[in-house]
Amino acid sequence: MSIRPGRFLRQSANSLRTLTLATARPVLHESLPAHSSSSSPAPLSRLTGLSRQFSTSSLNMAPVTKQYDYIVIGGGSGGSGAARRASGWYGAKTCIVDAGVSGGCCVNVGCVPKKMTWNFASIAEAMKAGKHYGYSFGDGNSFDFTSFVEKRDARIKVLNGAYESNWAKEGIDLIHGTASFVSEHEMEVTPKDGSEPFRITAPHITIATGSFPTKPEGIKGSEYGITSDEYFLIKHLPKKMVFVGAGYIAVELAGVMNAIGVETHLFIRGNTFLRKFDPMIQETLTKHYEELGVHVHRSHPGIKEVIQLQAAKDPSDPRDKQLKLIMNDGSEMITNELLWGIGRGAETRGLGLEKIPIELDKTGHIVVDKYQNTSIPGVYALGDVSGHVELTPVAIAAGRMLGNRLFGPPELKDSHLDYERIPSVVFSHPEVGTTGLTEPEAIERYGKDKIKVYHTKFSAMYYDVFPPEEKKKEPTEFKLVCLLPNEEVIGLHILGKGCDEMMQGFGVAVKMGATKKDFDSCVAIHPTSAEELVTMR
Ligand code: FAD
Ligand code: NDP
Repeated sequence: MSIRPGRFLRQSANSLRTLTLATARPVLHESLPAHSSSSSPAPLSRLTGLSRQFSTSSLNMAPVTKQYDYIVIGGGSGGSGAARRASGWYGAKTCIVDAGVSGGCCVNVGCVPKKMTWNFASIAEAMKAGKHYGYSFGDGNSFDFTSFVEKRDARIKVLNGAYESNWAKEGIDLIHGTASFVSEHEMEVTPKDGSEPFRITAPHITIATGSFPTKPEGIKGSEYGITSDEYFLIKHLPKKMVFVGAGYIAVELAGVMNAIGVETHLFIRGNTFLRKFDPMIQETLTKHYEELGVHVHRSHPGIKEVIQLQAAKDPSDPRDKQLKLIMNDGSEMITNELLWGIGRGAETRGLGLEKIPIELDKTGHIVVDKYQNTSIPGVYALGDVSGHVELTPVAIAAGRMLGNRLFGPPELKDSHLDYERIPSVVFSHPEVGTTGLTEPEAIERYGKDKIKVYHTKFSAMYYDVFPPEEKKKEPTEFKLVCLLPNEEVIGLHILGKGCDEMMQGFGVAVKMGATKKDFDSCVAIHPTSAEELVTMR
């Protein structure tokens, strides 16, 4: 276990009253990991050097119980947001216990490596476009994926360090280990370094342990396939790769592999993917993936059995791996790699939840109310483990709001995250942005006669120099779902080049309750694709 020097020497458990009075501490703003370079993070090695090695075995004493005001289990997006608000803003004596690598899923095996790999793939697409613009690139197609992965991973290490240095700056103790409930407010920590377990207690405990990628049960040999976690180990591209699933992960990762020249197959159960999105997104993007060369196997009967013909010698190099897939309809396929992108499960394994009467829903997520309260007073849950909108900024925002409510001034006692109209982006090819209700959801909630839909489809100026038959395949498509009589925009769905960056600003407008008239009152920015959103008829 490593902890920051001095923190355990502090007086134990400040009273909550004292904490509430301690609001005059300097406000330290948390930034999302992608922007943290400005804080010149300390390298991991330096942090490790600073950290005091503390273990009950090395001190030759009986296990001790450490008291905190606030224990946060999980140092990912949500846990970090929660702990930093409590300690950095309000001075609560806080510890984070993390069983993995600081920063959690987003930094290590989620948003960050995914977006960096998507950027890598976008360059291949830009080079293709470049040829139409008159550029030439020598052999044009060579790239060094391994060296990119090494740079990407080095960047992730910097971010791990940034997380830890921010926590250190804000007075948070970091314990590398696994936390498990002994009773409602006491946890046993098993340190990662193999030293003796010890106990920690606090009146407030937040569970922010995230989620894990699932593999299907009942398919013989499913263990030979990988998940998104192992995807980020790949340093040498396989020739052929099969993706199973129809959500964010399968669509994003299949799109990347196709763009960088891997023969990509996507098995989907339905006729389209992204079936929770507006039908416009589903239909246009599924068709476009086919046009881009992804082998989309619509209404796929499913895999019955996976036989490993040859194992990869090294998980980072699936080029020699050979899997035989036997489908439920009797057909077969040989592939180098198979990735299950069929959803994630709540990470409650090893938390000792059987020792406390905490309520779980039927999918295993921890049940919370709008304040992130679980069924046990003083125990909260947020982020993926609570299963509401599994996105990094959602987990961070929920953690910050909870910190405000628990440790902030009285005027913040009602602080909680509003889960309505949360914008998100799928980093597909091209990108998709969405917020609010889909058209079918809006009709179901309000009735068809209360909904007016604006829709436009066009080809962005970027593609004007493409040959006409290629240009017409590059979709840009927008939809506004409006609620009558005043045409409040209750759903916004956009697809096309640049929609990722376009989405955030429109997310603000929709969250504020903007109407179609408000959109129209904003003068267009020309020439952009986004201007079509304020000029729709
Ligand atoms: P996590 O960030 O996963 O943190 C949980 C932490 O808890 C981990 O560090 C783990 O080690 C620790 N832990 C678990 N059990 C214990 C225990 N018993 N004791 C101590 N510690 C424990 N979201 C976006 O917004 N944008 C994206 O582009 C995006 N891309 C993604 C791409 C992929 C491939 C994946 C898988 C996810 C992506 N997400 C994205 C989702 C996002 O990563 C998650 O919603 C977010 O990380 C959830 O944060 P969290 O705090 O709930 O959990
Ligand atoms: P999702 O829940 O988004 O999608 C999984 C999909 O796979 C299901 O919707 C289902 O679609 C299909 N599926 C489920 N079971 C099976 C099965 N047995 N066989 C075949 N297909 C199956 O999960 P993901 O794992 O893609 O992502 C998890 C979460 O992580 C996302 O919901 C999102 O919140 C977050 N994330 C966010 C990203 C971003 O913001 N850009 C990127 C990546 C992840 P169907 O019913 O149509 O078959």
